[in-house]
Amino acid sequence: MIPSTVREIHDAYDSGKLTPVELTKQYFGRIDASKHNAFITLCKDRALAQAEAMTAELKNKHGGKVPRREKSLFGIPMGIKDVQVIDGVRTTAGSKMLDNYIPPYTATSVQKLENAGVITMGKLNMDEFAMGSSNENSAYGPVLHPTHPDRVPGGSSGGSGTAVAADLVFAATGTDTGGSIRLPASFCGIVGMKPTYGRISRYGLIAFASSLDQIGPMAKTVEDAALICQVMAGVDELDETSAEAPVEDWQKVVRDTAAAPSAEGLRVGVPKEYFIDGIEPEVKNAIEASINKLKAQGAAIVPISLPHTKYAVSTYYVIAVSEASSNLSRMDGVRFGVRPPAALEAKTPADFYKKVRANFGLEVKRRIILGTFALSSGYYDAYYRRAAQVRRLMREDFEKAFQQCDVIVSPVAPMTAFKLGERSKNPLQMYLVDIFTIPASMAGLPAMSVPIAKDAGGLSIGMHLIASRFKESTLFKAAALVEGGVK
Ligand code: GLN
Repeated sequence: MIPSTVREIHDAYDSGKLTPVELTKQYFGRIDASKHNAFITLCKDRALAQAEAMTAELKNKHGGKVPRREKSLFGIPMGIKDVQVIDGVRTTAGSKMLDNYIPPYTATSVQKLENAGVITMGKLNMDEFAMGSSNENSAYGPVLHPTHPDRVPGGSSGGSGTAVAADLVFAATGTDTGGSIRLPASFCGIVGMKPTYGRISRYGLIAFASSLDQIGPMAKTVEDAALICQVMAGVDELDETSAEAPVEDWQKVVRDTAAAPSAEGLRVGVPKEYFIDGIEPEVKNAIEASINKLKAQGAAIVPISLPHTKYAVSTYYVIAVSEASSNLSRMDGVRFGVRPPAALEAKTPADFYKKVRANFGLEVKRRIILGTFALSSGYYDAYYRRAAQVRRLMREDFEKAFQQCDVIVSPVAPMTAFKLGERSKNPLQMYLVDIFTIPASMAGLPAMSVPIAKDAGGLSIGMHLIASRFKESTLFKAAALVEGGVK
């Protein structure tokens, strides 16, 4: 039996019905049997050593009970997206460029998880450098959808989405720059949450677009996502963009809400710009049904407007590619990056770089070229600066909206999981998948995806919730109500 909540696992440990070693082996058994391609690297020896230490600790200390207070994730097997570094564990970011990279240090987010008792099962597959919405841009092959193998799991944290939904790990980390946690969570039918910009330290996260990147939890329930989020959150002297804001007990917020569910006093904003033509009718109906359930629980439904939404995708793709071109310049075969044999024969520095950077995949090359162009002298004002100005307008839209409401709801994506290959030929088609998730990223707001329904083909539909900066408590409360309404 695979337990479905942290509480269940801890109860099973307490009663002696299960040990961390047994649970870890169960999960590895499922990983070995799986054809999803969810992992790039497994950490079997390392994970079993962690599990053995915990099994011994459980036996010899704390009177055989899980030390829930000090180690709230004691003996919980998780997968880590392969863009967060771990000392001594190969980390590729889904790229051939880092095929042999063994980092000499550990990301703060991962360190905090392990300090709380997490067993690290392995590094999860992803779109190369987190660029994509379908996981088809991984240099290690696409990840299959957990239940529909002809479909994508969403991206870029597609390995995380599939691994959690298919029970290959208990929970996972993801990263989200424009939707990469929320989209795969929605497609795979799990909970995915992106905190406020700065909540979770990015020390040890391989950067894509630094003004947008965030780490967050992907789990089966809102309560477990809240717990994992609060373990990773907090200021970190190693990341100057990490925020001082106090970390609250979000797990308690979720538990209290579930114990006495009421949306009384909660103002739910419904943006008119988010219900565009082109949304699949089943997605639209499911969102409307969830909004009605919130209303029935006592919420006030408030129509709002976010007028600059129409510029979100285009400005995002100026800002994200510009920052990516700068961040990826360190992959030069000297500081970072595989140096292929041909590069060693190069006669000129230009030829050397050309041979090294041939390791990048097509989408990454496209973005580096676009970003380098957008940042070049004479164009910076026309593109990056202008996009930054529009971004400020989008942020102001949200500030105004949050005077009228506490949480904003929308679909996560206009569609459910699409077929492998369906959109990969046309980058614009792929970019439009993120139309609803990008605005919250541009404004640095906490947002999440909660599964609410399935379409006629059995594919999951997620509801997107957005809260004001550092209002994770409100976000988790609303998410708990939505989740409760589904059951
Ligand atoms: N799909 C978007 C992109 O390709 C977002 C990716 C992400 O959030 N990492 O840029």
